Amino acid sequence: MAKKILVTQTSMPQYEEYIEEIKDIWESHWLTNMGPKHNLLESQLKEYLSVDNISLFTNGHNALELCLQAMNLSGEVITTPFTFASTTHAIVRNGLTPVFCDINPIDYTMDVTKIEALITDKTTAIVPVHVYGHVCNVEEIDRIAQKYGLKVIYDAAHVFGVRYKGKGIGDFGDASMFSFHATKVYHTIEGGAICYHNEELGRELYKLRDFGIKDAETIDGIGSNAKMNEFVAAMGLCTLRHVDEEIAKRKRVVECYRDNLSDIEGLQLPPIQENVTPNYAYFPIVIDESLFGATRNEIFEKLAENNIHARKYFYPLTSAFDAYHGVYDVNKTPVALHISKRVLTIPLYADLPLEDVERISRIIISARKQIKGSL
Ligand SMILES: *Cc1c(COP(=O)(O)O)cnc(C)c1O
Repeated sequence: MAKKILVTQTSMPQYEEYIEEIKDIWESHWLTNMGPKHNLLESQLKEYLSVDNISLFTNGHNALELCLQAMNLSGEVITTPFTFASTTHAIVRNGLTPVFCDINPIDYTMDVTKIEALITDKTTAIVPVHVYGHVCNVEEIDRIAQKYGLKVIYDAAHVFGVRYKGKGIGDFGDASMFSFHATKVYHTIEGGAICYHNEELGRELYKLRDFGIKDAETIDGIGSNAKMNEFVAAMGLCTLRHVDEEIAKRKRVVECYRDNLSDIEGLQLPPIQENVTPNYAYFPIVIDESLFGATRNEIFEKLAENNIHARKYFYPLTSAFDAYHGVYDVNKTPVALHISKRVLTIPLYADLPLEDVERISRIIISARKQIKGSL
């Protein structure tokens, strides 16, 4: 059996580098609660991401959930169902009602031409997702938000290091959530952050990730516990030193896929976006069976037979989850529904050998030939 290839593989610093980084924790005995490593990582990330402010968390989900709480939102939030569970759950767990906007069929981000029709007098915010590392139409979202007085909180879990028109992607909207989970382009094992502009929001975030504690005798928020600890921050300091190299290696993999899979009828590759410095986070392909001659599920199976494990990201839509059974109508977002049934995210990580990329490409193409019987 050929060696197992998963959709992603976490890049790690050298063992010695991490050990060196955690050594002084034994001197300080400072393990968590905004310690020196945490603070150093905050300042380094602020610079790397070119953002005004950043606040670190245990993970991206807690960051998003607490950011929505910190903004004291109510009523309805316009968002996308074509995302990871976290985005929708964060909205619902805040007692807010997600209103699902459809996506565009080119880059799969929110279709900005469909937002305004969903705005009611209960709408308070928009939560778009820079899905797969594709940048949303930030200008149009900003225009709509200004016009109707809505907050914008980006789920930026996929766009670490991405720049748009030279600016850090975390600079757009009122706030952006990054995830530093082990499966992401940049990681701290588990971890996350909120980038934001407003200092008042920053103070709320600081409190809410620490039980709502303002000072020793003042607890004026109903907070959670979502502080990043020193061992995690130490990992983040190590991985940050290598993230540019990580992105450069991913680029080689993506270029190899593009060489092999471009111009194949019925296969839609991720777009190359204008004015965007990408991070090569994911490689989603969308398969149109009638033109390609095989379904997404057939390609998925064919890869699995070869011990290659692609993922059906993002299927099902969050609005179709069992947890929300009977609550939302998936037919209201027909493009998202269509794409979710046809998309396959194929293996992509820094150390994926190019010969494996070649092999994966060949298996995908041959799935078509066999079904068409046209070898
Ligand atoms: C990974 C991810 C999250 C959640 O981040 P965690 O750090 O795992 O909590 C949220 N949204 C999207 C789109 C993600 O991919």
